[in-house]
Amino acid sequence: MSQAYVLFDRDGTLIKHVHYLIDPSKVELLANSALGLKMLKNFGFRFGIITNQSVINRGLATEDQVNAVNNRVIELFQFEGIDFDFILYCPHTPDEVCDCRKPAVALGQQAINEYDIDPTISFMLGDQPSDVIFGLQLGFRSIKIGDEMHNEPQADFHAKDLLEAAHWITSNTQKGQVFK
Ligand SMILES: [Zn+2]
Repeated sequence: MSQAYVLFDRDGTLIKHVHYLIDPSKVELLANSALGLKMLKNFGFRFGIITNQSVINRGLATEDQVNAVNNRVIELFQFEGIDFDFILYCPHTPDEVCDCRKPAVALGQQAINEYDIDPTISFMLGDQPSDVIFGLQLGFRSIKIGDEMHNEPQADFHAKDLLEAAHWITSNTQKGQVFK
């Protein structure tokens, strides 16, 4: 049976944005992110992360460094009792015009196929307009997180943080639709 997922951007959505983050010790969860995820977990949602990491093909980070940071993100949420089923990343720069850098949808389609995600009962959360566009193109309801500097008019909702987003998601979802 298809699954209800919440997909997340990584930097600026789950963890504090650090310019060219390559040091796992610099990973910090954003305030209220674990709290919001617990609420969504209790509702029955599963979780994944899809992130643009052009630092790799810009030559500013190796894949090993990006994987080390990703593993630290997974670990910090595990300490809070929260599991992510996957982290998928695009290593390309915008100039490469690949099909996997958000808002391009290749990684989202891969996740839908591999994890049997039902977009109609799933959500995408991110701090960039490209995250919102990405989610909408895949048929997810999409939420823009964070400050109002870069609001995306097409977003289904704007939330100041992940906890506010979790409240909106759970009040706009029928619990019976979210299958475990
Ligand atoms: Zn790519």
